[in-house]
Amino acid sequence: MSEVTDLLSRLIQVDTTNPPGNETAAAHLLRDYLEANGVACELYARVPERANLVARIPGTGDGPSLLLLGHTDVVLADPSEWSVPPFSGAVRDGAVWGRGALDMKSQVAAEAVALASLAREGFKPSGDIILAATADEEVGDAFGLEWLCDAHPDAVRCDYAINEGGGDRVQLGGSTFYACTTAEKLTAPFRIFVKGRSGHASMPSIADNALVKAATLIDRIAAFTPEQELQQEVEAFTRAVLGDVPATGEIVDRVRALDEITGELVRALLAPTFSPTIISASQKRNVIPALVELEVDCRLLPGQTPQQIEPVVRRMLGDDVEYDLVFGEAQGGTRSALDTPLWRAIESFLAEIEPGARAVPLACAGFTDSHWLREAFGTVAYGFFPMRTMPAEVAATLIHSADERIPVDDLELGVEWMRHAAHALLG
Ligand SMILES: [Zn+2]
Repeated sequence: MSEVTDLLSRLIQVDTTNPPGNETAAAHLLRDYLEANGVACELYARVPERANLVARIPGTGDGPSLLLLGHTDVVLADPSEWSVPPFSGAVRDGAVWGRGALDMKSQVAAEAVALASLAREGFKPSGDIILAATADEEVGDAFGLEWLCDAHPDAVRCDYAINEGGGDRVQLGGSTFYACTTAEKLTAPFRIFVKGRSGHASMPSIADNALVKAATLIDRIAAFTPEQELQQEVEAFTRAVLGDVPATGEIVDRVRALDEITGELVRALLAPTFSPTIISASQKRNVIPALVELEVDCRLLPGQTPQQIEPVVRRMLGDDVEYDLVFGEAQGGTRSALDTPLWRAIESFLAEIEPGARAVPLACAGFTDSHWLREAFGTVAYGFFPMRTMPAEVAATLIHSADERIPVDDLELGVEWMRHAAHALLG
């Protein structure tokens, strides 16, 4: 069994289901492994059972710093859906099985093994190379990277970071591409309060049913086509994949012609999205509701703000139904530059492992911990963990689902990628 296979298997056996997390047990396992390989570690914890581990090979010159980032918490697993116990870390059929095998103890293990192997070889990086295995990404109650950036910025300050959220291998028009996420949309949820007048449900004509009025607004949200805007990630993506940059309105169809799902992915990166997801109205069947609360999941393009989008939302909803609009807390919406040494490290790595394959940038429709680093330190943070063996569409169905697993080949490729990045940036 390879070193990284063994480490991942043992990491999976530590149940870090969040909530409650209990990531300290994973931090201890990683610390024991790294210290045995000569890498200095520090634990940082807001509460004792939810520790973050930061390990470091100090730089010997004035080179940039590189952070290898990963979270150690995982989402719930229901054993009855699985063909192996989800916290077994079983190695079979050339894969490591268990909760976290893709999201994202695999990358954490690969990062740790890369760091340990560099330390054993006596690698002297020109700047710090840092591993941060953090708590609480899946829930986000400020025990993990958000808290570290705030309470211990010196521990995680970095020029470059490699995180989760990218590395899918896609074949489009006969060419092979690896997606790297360099930006993310802004999650900007809002609530709509629709007012009516209550009354007995047996005589609807004397009341004013807020639920019926809300239905009108829901219809309008569903029918709305927001204006598209071409941003740098999609522009670079289409140039690489299509060979040119078509008019914005034609991009989705052109990409869909190559691959339907990728076309839909690009569609979500050309405009804001609005998805009504939660509604609450009357608590009693026979009472017509006077108030309806409708929650809308809204994702804006990187750089767009809720203030800018509010007039668009009001236009979408029309002015014949009375409502109040309240935006919640927005999160994410950051990006990193595309022309960077880290990008070139990805390109040179792909040239080694799969000649002819090219890297393409994408924005992430959700968000990852990368935005904390971009906001706090201006870090160039990319999501990239190349998956050459497992098809992207298979991985997508396993993340947060049953029988999550990673091919050993991809796990070992991840170690090679992290080592390559360290040499390319800090060698
Ligand atoms: Zn994750």
